[in-house]
Amino acid sequence: TKPLLKVENLKKYFPLKKGLFGRTVGFVKAVDDLSFHVNEGETLGIVGESGCGKSTTGRLLMRLLEPTEGVVEFDGKELTSLTQEEMRITRRDIQMVFQDPYASLNPRHTIGKILEEPLIVHGVLDQIERKKKVKEFLEVVGLNEYHAKRYPHQFSGGQRQRIGIARALMTNPKLIIADEPVSALDVSIQAQVLNLMQDLQKDFNLTYIFIAHDLGVVRHISDRVAVMYLGKIVEIAESEQLYERPLHPYTRALLSAVPVPDPDFQKEQIIIEGDIPSPADPPTGCTFHTRCPFKMDSCTKVTPQLNEQSLGHSVACHLYDSKVDNDIKQMEGSL
Ligand code: SF4
Ligand code: MG
Repeated sequence: TKPLLKVENLKKYFPLKKGLFGRTVGFVKAVDDLSFHVNEGETLGIVGESGCGKSTTGRLLMRLLEPTEGVVEFDGKELTSLTQEEMRITRRDIQMVFQDPYASLNPRHTIGKILEEPLIVHGVLDQIERKKKVKEFLEVVGLNEYHAKRYPHQFSGGQRQRIGIARALMTNPKLIIADEPVSALDVSIQAQVLNLMQDLQKDFNLTYIFIAHDLGVVRHISDRVAVMYLGKIVEIAESEQLYERPLHPYTRALLSAVPVPDPDFQKEQIIIEGDIPSPADPPTGCTFHTRCPFKMDSCTKVTPQLNEQSLGHSVACHLYDSKVDNDIKQMEGSL
């Protein structure tokens, strides 16, 4: 397997304006130095609370937003160096599925028109072939050609998400970024949509980035999972590793909120208190220190780096950082 997507030191700082003349008084570090890769054919789950930067990350990868800094390499191309026109063509290969399919489907257009649109935008296929493809992909997601004449409001939430998925597939993409695709759906429907996505991944050799706010949802679909907090990845590992041996206190807290099917199974309970701090004014040192039950003195002073603990399992936390004592000594020495 080779990486389809490589992200290095990706940052998005939004300027914080104040007053009549919009003077910049600071920055919201929505995405703060992310590095990760996604291999061809795999699913990377990205998990975190709202405001952690996971949706901004998705939009940066599509270049719907320009990064402040960093490199996004997709399929051998450096996306940030592409012209608008080159990027427009590349977007065929990267598609998005959104949380609220109703909001992302034009209510005045038939499903047929909605599905045809990406093909028209990218100027591929003639009208007859386009209609054929619409029918084919309605069937691929479990609907049928008669649905093409109907409007979004005539479908259930689950069906609408199937339509959103079909639309994403129309241009034969390589990568699909799904931003909370099942969060708005009933639990019973969630499983159906997740199963569909897994089947499609095999059939069409898709690579997924699956964004969610809870670790339960991404467990079975993800090969690897990255946990984000205040714009940074705090832990990344293969799914099995992450769920069986979570290291970061934040990951452990998120996992203790996921219900376990076996009531006899004694699970670690870590309750985190308080709200996620404002990314405009993040805490010093480890940004999680204001909510961390394991906080040590060093945590408020030194920012932990993402370090590999075992193959492919990295964590940014001083509890696992044998170097921290040296760093603090160094810092104290320089004061
Ligand atoms: Fe908690 Fe300190 Fe680890 Fe941050 S670095 S997660 S505050 S123990
Ligand atoms: Mg979001």
